[in-house]
Amino acid sequence: MGLLEGKKGVIFGVANEKSIAWAIARILHREGMELAFTYAGEVLESRVRPLADSLGSRIILPCDVTDDSQIDSVFNTLKNEWGSLDAMVHAIAFAKKEELKGEFLNTTRDGFKLAMDVSAYSLVALVKCAVPLMEGRDGAIVTLSYYGSEKVITNYNAMGVAKAALETSVRYLAADLGPKKVRINTISAGPVKTLAAMGISGFKSILDMVESKSPLRRNITQEDVAKTALYLLSDLSSGVTGEIIHVDSGYNIMGN
Ligand code: NAP
Repeated sequence: MGLLEGKKGVIFGVANEKSIAWAIARILHREGMELAFTYAGEVLESRVRPLADSLGSRIILPCDVTDDSQIDSVFNTLKNEWGSLDAMVHAIAFAKKEELKGEFLNTTRDGFKLAMDVSAYSLVALVKCAVPLMEGRDGAIVTLSYYGSEKVITNYNAMGVAKAALETSVRYLAADLGPKKVRINTISAGPVKTLAAMGISGFKSILDMVESKSPLRRNITQEDVAKTALYLLSDLSSGVTGEIIHVDSGYNIMGN
């Protein structure tokens, strides 16, 4: 019997088979969880639907996280279909390509707002709707961050600031959700070649740095992240909330 038999979870952030969220979905499915998926636009639907189908998922819904009515509609459907929810994965981030290169000093007001809205506030908006379905069920939520929230990473710019806001939001949310028996944690993942990552100027040099300097001397995989997500979304982490766990081959501990 799997660790998550009889449990139900919703995954936000599958764009294609390289997405971190997709690796997480596969491991949750392997452990018995029934899954629902969302996609951000029509183009994405054609990529997400076959992936979701391959895991036997029946619920595949549109959700642009900047639109509260789409968020409401997702959770209304989950309420009608399932009545309750055990897990949620938030693997969503966006900044305009022009904000992910050059000096942070040149960040525009609109670019800053958009990165913050999609990459940080969206977690709060989703959690607000998820909690009534999770309350009292030992529910668990995971979001994805990156080391650029803690240290300056060239070109990461507004996204680094948004990830710092995301991580702090997790701590505040953990304090609110704890009494409702819902846990929330962050995985700070090392760099992985995905659609979102390819928007960051000079991404290859970030990969090279981790490979040469991290204690494990290798880059992480989506599956490395997924295994930690399984821990955080299952009873294995029953006493853990508000944490940031680095899955980065140990890169963040190095001083030089
Ligand atoms: P990905 O496959 O491109 O996933 C990013 C997801 O965010 C996509 O599904 C994307 O959908 C979605 N998204 C963007 N704007 C959205 C919106 N307005 N509404 C709804 N969804 C939206 O890339 P990924 O690397 O797996 O990213 C997943 C998470 O991991 C992100 O939070 C990212 O910052 C984080 N992370 C990634 C790395 C890395 O190196 N790859 C490292 C650390 C943390 P669209 O494609 O339709 O925009």
